[in-house]
Amino acid sequence: MSPRLVACDHCDYLHTEEEIPPGHVARCVRCGSPLYQSQNNSIERSLAFAFTALMLFILANSFPILQFSMEGRSESNTLISGVLTFWNEGFWFLAFMVGLTSILAPLLLILAYIYVLLPLRFGLGFPAIRKVWRILAIARPWSMLDVFLIGLLVALTKLNDFADVIAGPAFYAVCILIPMSLLMSAQLDPREVWHRLAPRGLKYPTTDDIAVFAPSQERWVTCEVCAFVLTGATARRDHAICPCCGARVHHRKPASLSRAWALLISAAIFYIPANVFPIMSVTMLGRTEADTILSGVGALIEAGEWPIAMVVFCASIVVPIFKLVVLSWVYMAAGMGMAGPLRQRTRIYRITELIGRWSMIDVFMVSILAALVKLGNIATVVPGFGAVAFCAVVILTMLSAMAFDPRLIWDRATQKLKQGTPS
Ligand SMILES: [Zn+2]
Ligand SMILES: [Zn+2]
Repeated sequence: MSPRLVACDHCDYLHTEEEIPPGHVARCVRCGSPLYQSQNNSIERSLAFAFTALMLFILANSFPILQFSMEGRSESNTLISGVLTFWNEGFWFLAFMVGLTSILAPLLLILAYIYVLLPLRFGLGFPAIRKVWRILAIARPWSMLDVFLIGLLVALTKLNDFADVIAGPAFYAVCILIPMSLLMSAQLDPREVWHRLAPRGLKYPTTDDIAVFAPSQERWVTCEVCAFVLTGATARRDHAICPCCGARVHHRKPASLSRAWALLISAAIFYIPANVFPIMSVTMLGRTEADTILSGVGALIEAGEWPIAMVVFCASIVVPIFKLVVLSWVYMAAGMGMAGPLRQRTRIYRITELIGRWSMIDVFMVSILAALVKLGNIATVVPGFGAVAFCAVVILTMLSAMAFDPRLIWDRATQKLKQGTPS
């Protein structure tokens, strides 16, 4: 049998699938992006981590995460306290985003793994199983418990100087839950899941189906959800449906560049109030001070907490600026079909996609402090509009990077190279 086709989702280069040793990742020869990985007993292992993660998730949501004492009074908070505090104070957008990223998306991810992998392992038939696995792809980038943990450490550092803070049982549950859910994803070979979920008798495209070395004569479309390569007449249809997972497939993401630009420009606009307005007001023994993103970093440096100050500085100041600048450059180059270091451009786009979520640290820190420090005039933390604008910057840049189709980096540039026109 001829080898199956695999298209790179970052540059659309076609490869033939080859066996690789377990634990290894196959990468695109053109842009270097990961294509697929191989794991032994991937479903069983991933399922074991998913059950452990579910148990830890229940523990993490049932017990206090931090206990804060000052002047003889104390308060404790749970994972959901930050969401409820934002909601009660009228910060609905923050309540929704913190709830989505620290509770809902991580839970959906764990449940989806169990719902899909359990019947695959034991040969059972659960309804809508392919749809659930498809929805999982949407929930995945919004699960940010690892970022939440760093936010928790920053909050702890800020409180430690003037109050007694004790980590509760949920704190330790979250610390173990994060590696468990990371392993749950890392141990799974998604190809194997889609091969098992695919309709019976589905014919996978092979080198016989396409003129690999004359791509201009043929057209293929890759499903963004399951990576199935559609060839021939189906690929030429405008509204094709993936025969493997049932998702709608597009040659390129529709209106990708204009959507990506619109979201990025909105993020740049929100960046100004995010830095001008305070992200929180801190009342300490009758004195109230407003903290902006930058003054928060300054306060950490003054307190001598250099490592945490560096983390917050990178996540809250360097990463958003880096994302705004780099994404503008990548979109401009793609729109103009600029040649040059396309491989590096793809890699840098991949990095911005990976690091963007870490800017949520400050938003999580405010949610934790506002929920925990509620001792009236002795000590109170109230969220500020700066936190709303900053959260909007993070979300909009993430949505912008998701709206952009990285294959556009290669499309026009390689077309121009083929035609021999300088860019
Ligand atoms: Zn590639
Ligand atoms: Zn598909």
